[in-house]
Amino acid sequence: MLFDCGPATTWKLIKAGISPTEINSVFFTHHHFDHDADFPTFILTRWDQMVPKDKLLKVYGPTMTEEFTRGIIDEDTGLFAHDWKARIGHPASQVTYLDRGGILPRSKPLVSATNKGPGLITAGESWQVTAAEAEHVQPFLDSLAYRIDTDEGSVVVTGDTAPCESINKLSKGADVLMMMCWDSHDQMKGTEHEKASSSIKSASETAAEANVKKLVMVHIGSRLSTPEMKIMRDIEASNVWDGDIVWGEELMKIPLSGMSDNG
Ligand SMILES: [Zn+2]
Repeated sequence: MLFDCGPATTWKLIKAGISPTEINSVFFTHHHFDHDADFPTFILTRWDQMVPKDKLLKVYGPTMTEEFTRGIIDEDTGLFAHDWKARIGHPASQVTYLDRGGILPRSKPLVSATNKGPGLITAGESWQVTAAEAEHVQPFLDSLAYRIDTDEGSVVVTGDTAPCESINKLSKGADVLMMMCWDSHDQMKGTEHEKASSSIKSASETAAEANVKKLVMVHIGSRLSTPEMKIMRDIEASNVWDGDIVWGEELMKIPLSGMSDNG
């Protein structure tokens, strides 16, 4: 599962040792470009590397998810259709595909995208993904936050959001809450930003209210990354919540196993 696909996602996945071919479902929180701009690269890399045959990629997200996906790969109107058509049709590309372990004839990228609202999104035998509305830049874009429940634990991915009741409810008792943390409370207080994004304080308040085991701050604004602000951000967070807080970094891995032992 992949949640959002912002700039350089495919490159970062590979750097993290994950092949795009291992991912069969993509969930978009919303369609700002910093959350979806790498999707053409992701779809085409996954399709190109998938052997011996392509496997269906399922795509879920708020309004615009179907339109956005069609706009990339649709046979008639997709802006990247010329690429997969050339790779399917040209003999040199066919040889490359055979060398990789592929079987001809090659199919077009198999992608099914569905626009979704809050509620159950999809489920397997031992897991499910549910969504709740996130408050970001409506009415321009709809936004969803996701909760993944599995036998091994639960994770909430808020996407970009202001603190709100639907996120509190979705996050109740989660093992890990990954929440947007844009800036300090003082910087955002009383501004338009406060209605669209979360501060250190409001992300920490959400973790406290939902009683999660771990809060992972993500989508951290650049202002919070200087040495002075790194000290300040810990103080603002710990004034609100004394739980386990992780400040997200590029390529960071956070294991779910052992969560119940470590708190
Ligand atoms: Zn956004």
